[in-house]
Amino acid sequence: MSTSGTASTAPAQPDCIVDARDVCKSFGPLTVLREVSLQVRRGEVVLVLGPSGSGKSTFLRTLNMLEPIDSGTVSVCGEPLGTRADGRRAAEKQLAVQRRRTGMVFQQFHLFPNMTALDNVAAGPVHVRGQAKAESRDEARELLALVGLADKTDHYPGQLSGGQQQRVAIARALAMRPEIMLFDEPTSALDPEMVNEVLEVLVKLREEGMTMVIVSHEMGFARAAADRVVFMDEGVIVEEAAPSEFFANPRSERARAFLAKIL
Ligand code: ADP
Ligand code: MG
Repeated sequence: MSTSGTASTAPAQPDCIVDARDVCKSFGPLTVLREVSLQVRRGEVVLVLGPSGSGKSTFLRTLNMLEPIDSGTVSVCGEPLGTRADGRRAAEKQLAVQRRRTGMVFQQFHLFPNMTALDNVAAGPVHVRGQAKAESRDEARELLALVGLADKTDHYPGQLSGGQQQRVAIARALAMRPEIMLFDEPTSALDPEMVNEVLEVLVKLREEGMTMVIVSHEMGFARAAADRVVFMDEGVIVEEAAPSEFFANPRSERARAFLAKIL
């Protein structure tokens, strides 16, 4: 675990799933990430907090190569994203393998509207992984059961509530057998009564040992289910701590001001 400075040059621990070092990113004149470094161990649940516009989504997207970075490195499972061992740009096939190691769930569910829940979940393994259709559908059924939707396999997204759609989206990401799951405000678009059914799935995944980085402002969840809280502001990781420590005793003035607004 490190934020920045000398620690970021130390070799990663063997159980390190994500190793982001000194990641910088600008959009034109706007600098959004300033030397962000974060290491996530296997099985760890990291919660990312921070004001709107602080760079949380952009950072999460760099971990999945949805956002190219200007400088720094991001390694997932020990492999630097986008590059080969000799430092040259990775071929498309290798990029696809690297991308598959991270599952991503967004605020909006992005399901295929013309496919049933089952087909939404089975499509990736069939079309991207080249897995047999019957096997993919069996697995999709198991995953839908895991997220509490065993009785909705034949429903279309339009026939499901927001909370149910988000759980299908989680099952769909899991179907690709990722090493780590990234969640970008997974409950922000949901009506309040549906937030818990999604958070319960995250708790279950944690119990199963899934490594997760979650951007969320659900404080009850953060306290109960996160191993570490990372607080970002203006493109910098300002502080990180265990949730109990962070919420009881934030070290920075910026974190205190942020918590005063949302608690
Ligand atoms: P957060 O998720 O913490 O709210 P974001 O990572 O979405 O923050 O955004 C950080 C900053 O980068 C914001 O000022 C946002 O407007 C800007 N930004 C994000 N994506 C783009 C983009 N594709 N082009 C230009 N500016 C962007
Ligand atoms: Mg965001």
